[in-house]
Amino acid sequence: MRTPSRNWPAETLPEIAGELPLNQTFSIAIDGPAGAGKSTIARAAAERLGAMYLDTGAMYRAVGLYFLRRGLDGDVRTVAEHVSEVRVSVKPEGDVQRIFLNGEDVTEAIRTPEASLAASHVAAVPEVRERMVALQREIAKGYSIVMDGRDIGTKVLPDATLKLYVTASPEVRARRRHLELIQKGEEMPFKQVLAEIRERDYNDTHRAASPLVQAEDAHLLDTSNMTMEQSLGEVERLFREAIGG
Ligand code: C5P
Repeated sequence: MRTPSRNWPAETLPEIAGELPLNQTFSIAIDGPAGAGKSTIARAAAERLGAMYLDTGAMYRAVGLYFLRRGLDGDVRTVAEHVSEVRVSVKPEGDVQRIFLNGEDVTEAIRTPEASLAASHVAAVPEVRERMVALQREIAKGYSIVMDGRDIGTKVLPDATLKLYVTASPEVRARRRHLELIQKGEEMPFKQVLAEIRERDYNDTHRAASPLVQAEDAHLLDTSNMTMEQSLGEVERLFREAIGG
């Protein structure tokens, strides 16, 4: 769902989808904190494997934006009571996934630091998670899919073919985010980017409803000192292992 402005080159996984038995679908669950490289890895893996890619963070961002616009994203009770007013839908368009909020295309509007924080606020509300998880499972039905988020391996796709927990140090993640913002022509002091990453980490790991944790059967991938090529190589190795190749 992110525009292709990532600072990592889009290195590719070798084509290995052809090695799967015919008619067999698979799912890859990728979880981890903000800025760890999940979406770049997920999108590249989906492309190489001929699978769908779903960025579940974008869905929480759309819900967050709805309440942010009303100044209510921090009001748990109102969010819980009014979440049924929010219709979120996704539409793949080339390698970009467009996201709609009550019919309005908000693909770009959800990519602001304010929308990021609003997403982590509303994502703590159980009623929001319930709706999003149901929608994500519905989208995944019958397809090979790569999904990234915070609770994919633990909650959305507990039987995923492969589960990854992708992480990196907060400083490395903030540096990547900072570079992304600069590339988009947006000014923000590095210290502020780091503070927001830490705040979101705190919100995501301390909420009562589906906090961010590594699933017991997820493979840990720390990308702090890895290039994108190395990360994708590791994903390929783990995927082959998972499908018994
Ligand atoms: O992945 P991204 O940074 O776009 O996600 C935005 C926010 O949405 C996260 O900080 C997190 O609070 C929330 N989220 C979630 N569960 C997911 C995906 C995202 O709680 N599966």
